[in-house]
Amino acid sequence: MQTSPEYDVVAVGGGAAGLSGALALGRARRTVLVVDAGEPRNAAAGHVHNYLGREGTPPAELLEVGRAEVAAYGVQVRRGRVTTAMRSATGFGLALDDGTTVHARRLLVTTGLTDVLPEIAGLAERFGNDVLHCPYCHGWEVRDRAIGIVAGNAFALHGAGLWRQWSDDVTLFLNDRLALSPEDAERLAARGVAVVEGRVTEVVVEDDRLVGVRLESGEVVRREAVVAAPQFVANSDLLASLGLEPVAVEMGGVRFGYAVPSDPGGATTVPGVWLAGNVTDLRAQVISAAAGGLNAGAMINMDLIEEETAAAVATYRRKSA
Ligand SMILES: Cc1cc2nc3c(=O)[nH]c(=O)nc-3n(C[C@H](O)[C@H](O)[C@H](O)COP(=O)(O)OP(=O)(O)OC[C@H]3O[C@@H](n4cnc5c(N)ncnc54)[C@H](O)[C@@H]3O)c2cc1C
Repeated sequence: MQTSPEYDVVAVGGGAAGLSGALALGRARRTVLVVDAGEPRNAAAGHVHNYLGREGTPPAELLEVGRAEVAAYGVQVRRGRVTTAMRSATGFGLALDDGTTVHARRLLVTTGLTDVLPEIAGLAERFGNDVLHCPYCHGWEVRDRAIGIVAGNAFALHGAGLWRQWSDDVTLFLNDRLALSPEDAERLAARGVAVVEGRVTEVVVEDDRLVGVRLESGEVVRREAVVAAPQFVANSDLLASLGLEPVAVEMGGVRFGYAVPSDPGGATTVPGVWLAGNVTDLRAQVISAAAGGLNAGAMINMDLIEEETAAAVATYRRKSA
């Protein structure tokens, strides 16, 4: 017999996507629980940029405001990690890492993604500070600085052209990962992007300040910021237990990560399970993750209304027979 609480919807993950979905559902008078492990992807960044109306807010502050907003509509937010999800008679049973279980008629999974960084000494420690991946998140802050793009694959060519928009001092480190065609070399030269051959072995930091990158030859090339493209890998362990697996995502023929597919409303191939944010959309920024959450929340509400209407019609027919 089920003794643990049942919610209309449990959102697994309380970042921008999960909280935004919860806001829509709370305002739709649904019972909602958000379970959040408290490790949003951008935690290392000082500020959230390109979030209209809240430009430059620290990430933790934005989420704190979001939690207060959903709480005003009766949404419960719990710190914790959902470890397993299983189908139950009425929806899904979820086990949390504190040993408790909860039930949900519908699931909104917004667990985000993991940035898998290249294995270069000193690089991971500076990620989000002066090791960067996204010009829209950090480009303005390093405008006119000496920027180094460390190639991981052919995507770095695109990166070099992009970051050049923010600085005219951009160096592309080929890092033994990229071979330039004569046309590539010409395009880079035309834009004034310097090219350095050789493998990058270390991000060099002095007095807690990034000063450059070390090459295999031992030479240190001075730079003030380093750009490295991670592989974006959806946090999808929980979804695997429900039969949903990530698939490779490519841009311009180059793989840049793995995401779990969903339709434009966030629905998956598993009835009752919706996705939003980076777990399904690797490109989502905070504002678009929030938009995805709202969208999925509205779709979930519609699905619940359909179920409730079908049940009401069955009762109505029995009574009228
Ligand atoms: C360094 C850096 C800087 C960035 N700067 C910007 C910026 O300036 N502007 C911008 O728009 N975007 C920025 N981004 C991108 C931004 O982080 C993402 O767009 C955004 O976090 C996506 O929101 P989300 O809700 O999908 O995932 P997240 O914010 O990552 O939230 C997912 C949440 O789910 C939780 N979770 C995961 N698994 C479980 C589980 N099993 N049970 C319970 N909880 C779980 C996590 O702990 C986390 O709290 C930046 C990213 C990085 C890496």
